[in-house]
Amino acid sequence: MSYLITNEIFSDYLNCKYKVFLKFTGKTATKTEYEKLQKRLLQKYRQYVRKSLISKKYMNGGIIEKITLSDIVKQKFGFGFFIREKFKDLKVHFDALIKEDSSCTSYVPVSFIRKERVQINDKLNLAFCGAVIGERLNTIPQFGRIIYGNNISMVRVNFDVLIPKVTSIVMALRNLIASDNSPQMHLNKHCKICEFRAKCYRNAVENDDLSLLSGLNQKKIQKINNKGIFTVNQYSYTFKPRRRRKSRDKKITCYPELKALAIRENKIYVHGTPELPHSKVEIFLDIEGLPDKNFYYLIGLIINENGNFHDYSFWANSSNEEDNLFYQLQKELNKYRDYIIYHFGNYEKKYLKSMSKKLENSQSRKVKNIINRCYDLLPVFVSNIYIPTYSNGLKDIANFLGFSWTDKSGSGIQSIIWREKWELSRSNIIEDKLKQYNKDDCLALVNVKNFVSENRYRNE
Ligand code: SF4
Repeated sequence: MSYLITNEIFSDYLNCKYKVFLKFTGKTATKTEYEKLQKRLLQKYRQYVRKSLISKKYMNGGIIEKITLSDIVKQKFGFGFFIREKFKDLKVHFDALIKEDSSCTSYVPVSFIRKERVQINDKLNLAFCGAVIGERLNTIPQFGRIIYGNNISMVRVNFDVLIPKVTSIVMALRNLIASDNSPQMHLNKHCKICEFRAKCYRNAVENDDLSLLSGLNQKKIQKINNKGIFTVNQYSYTFKPRRRRKSRDKKITCYPELKALAIRENKIYVHGTPELPHSKVEIFLDIEGLPDKNFYYLIGLIINENGNFHDYSFWANSSNEEDNLFYQLQKELNKYRDYIIYHFGNYEKKYLKSMSKKLENSQSRKVKNIINRCYDLLPVFVSNIYIPTYSNGLKDIANFLGFSWTDKSGSGIQSIIWREKWELSRSNIIEDKLKQYNKDDCLALVNVKNFVSENRYRNE
């Protein structure tokens, strides 16, 4: 049976080799809601870019659509949309092809990407199209172009370094397809949006697989495997208690083997003593955004002022309202002379830093002052308190402490799906769902912070 290496398979390989193996051995699963929605939105975006390019009369020499590379070359068109091409076992689709010189010998592939930022995998995928053009026309294009984001920005992607990488990826893919051996399965960042996630997670739990521990990447797992250790249980026996050296105390030191021990014994382990800052006013901050669009649209706050709790929710309909969103946050914070902001992970600080860059100098100083008052609770769970959960995500930790979200399906990915759907529908029901999810995140933070500050971890 002959197999085709398509853009989808190429992308799958970049995300997870095991996924390619599952597909080529005939395994199927229903695409996740996230993947289906992204596909729909990308199709919409492609039409939007196409229309915009036509209206700007960007192209010369005419336009043709849904054709092959040879058609476009034969007819000497300057611009083609939605082109498919096949060469031996390679089958690519590119959103557009531009004739870059009048002799019609140099054609440049173009991808349309909805995101506001172009990542390495987007560039590699474009270079994969470039490699197929090279095979068909006997001239490898020197570069391609990516059109991205709402403003239809364009970036040139040079192929000199990328094409050799593409060649070795294609060779590795051919070897993988030809071999009967399954690559090792590693749960990874892509799993949360992958159609096989239920199956893989089930397998991982059955095998007590090391990749269940989110603190271990593939490289670290390989090193541990080389010592003959393959399960979380086996790994838990490798923990050796160490004294914390003074000079190292400020560093975040993580012992995933202690996490494995906590899981084996279903018990909390403590390494060192976490010290939280003190203030009469405690602020719990959680921000929702669309990372691919660099857009922050919802800020949730719970303020504890001497035992009186108030909650706030600031919402932006579009990126035009982002500044206003920040001013609402600032207005609330300005009411207090002294306060601590608790958050979980680096997303909130990233937001504040991005605002600091965006604002004028005097305002930027104020934002830096806010940043200095931030305290991230995540490192406490990475370094000091080892909860018997596979990950140190807020959801896993707060759930372990007995907290539950109003909507149990809520998650980072689900919030992205909700927001994207809100953008299509402007539904009040979805907006309320997001606000409740964000408020629950703040409440979870209150629980987690109290668990640490009241030393409850010593008794559990
Ligand atoms: S769920 Fe994860 S490990 Fe399984 S195929 Fe998908 S990305 Fe790979």
